[in-house]
Amino acid sequence: MSDKTINHKLRDIQDKNADVELLQAAIGRQSITGNEANFVEQLREVMTANGLKPNTADFLPGRPNIWGHRKGTEPGPSLMIVGHTDTVNVQGWSNAWEGQPREDPFGAIEVDGEIWGRGACDLKAGICASLAALRLLDAADIKLRGQISFAFIGDEESGEPGMGVSAGAKDLVQRVKQGEIATPDFAIYVEPTKLNVYTAQIGFFIADVKVTGKSAYFGTPQDGVDALKATHKILTALWRHEEELTAGPSHDFVGPSGILVTDIKGGGYIAVPGECALSVIRKLRPGEDLDQAVAQFENAVNSAELSDEISVEIKYPAGRDHPLGGSPVEIDPNHDAARLLATCVQQEHAQGGQIGGAPYWSEAPFLVNAIGCPTVYCAPGDISVAHTFNERVNVEEYLAAVRSFALFMVAYCGTETGEEE
Ligand SMILES: [Zn+2]
Repeated sequence: MSDKTINHKLRDIQDKNADVELLQAAIGRQSITGNEANFVEQLREVMTANGLKPNTADFLPGRPNIWGHRKGTEPGPSLMIVGHTDTVNVQGWSNAWEGQPREDPFGAIEVDGEIWGRGACDLKAGICASLAALRLLDAADIKLRGQISFAFIGDEESGEPGMGVSAGAKDLVQRVKQGEIATPDFAIYVEPTKLNVYTAQIGFFIADVKVTGKSAYFGTPQDGVDALKATHKILTALWRHEEELTAGPSHDFVGPSGILVTDIKGGGYIAVPGECALSVIRKLRPGEDLDQAVAQFENAVNSAELSDEISVEIKYPAGRDHPLGGSPVEIDPNHDAARLLATCVQQEHAQGGQIGGAPYWSEAPFLVNAIGCPTVYCAPGDISVAHTFNERVNVEEYLAAVRSFALFMVAYCGTETGEEE
């Protein structure tokens, strides 16, 4: 069957109401990091109905991942769709929309052609679009070769205390390495990209810096050691480091590296400030080494020429695929499957289907580096409204994603012999 025939057929038979209802039900399942099970329960039903024979297992007590697959009767490439089930919290959402239809962050209400709610774009639209795509192929009686699999994992978002360390992704990697889940040939991680195809992603580390001097009464400042003045020197050194980084090499898709001071707290008494704390986040370009970036950062701090009476303690609280942070990653922007996916999207959503890079960190490095599977980000939704009170996804874009993913499944896996014309 020609591509054109498939396009028309899929457009004709897509059950748009059912696809939208699937997403609305998913948003209705509150799954703030820690509460993934509530959404996994719904996914189990949907995946079972899709013939994916899902498995679940806790990556931490009461917090399950879910995965499942379907094999064609003929051999062919294997494709995996991956996404995180958790969302950030909703503090302040209801206040922001008080008295308005979108007051309930889990109401999934449609306003002006967009579905609103926590998780709408980050990333339940991606998960639902991929599952609806398989359902659409079934409705069209198109049988895939090879294998299609789905893995939905928890603990990606870092908003909740002590959580968001990619415990779900680590569990998935373990099961792939042990052979319990087959290594896919290619994966799509459904972070929002406005249906562009991101072959690259930044890396990051967060550093908490504690500067300790000695407090003293304001009338006798000579008895103290001023931690705020020392911090001033550290800040100057860090902003010099920032200038070097931003003036340095730039990546085609994600731009130059950078470092940002995000928080500072110090003093507070009418006295010599004895302590000061600051937090920074460093952005890494693909190709940069995380250990090396940390060493550069520590060199910058050490270049501040502080007195011996000042002590500096640095902690890296946000280890992900690397103990100190999240690695940057990229695959060849001309990777065949990435190009093919971009082409499929362009047929259904003219504004999407561009190859690009993610200005955010998510869990593709686990797939690319830990299990050696080329991975892209691609899904409906705009990352700039994720984690905000404006989180929403455009309905037409979401419906186009369902068809785009279905086209890609056909183009990538191929169809069984009886299906070809
Ligand atoms: Zn996300």
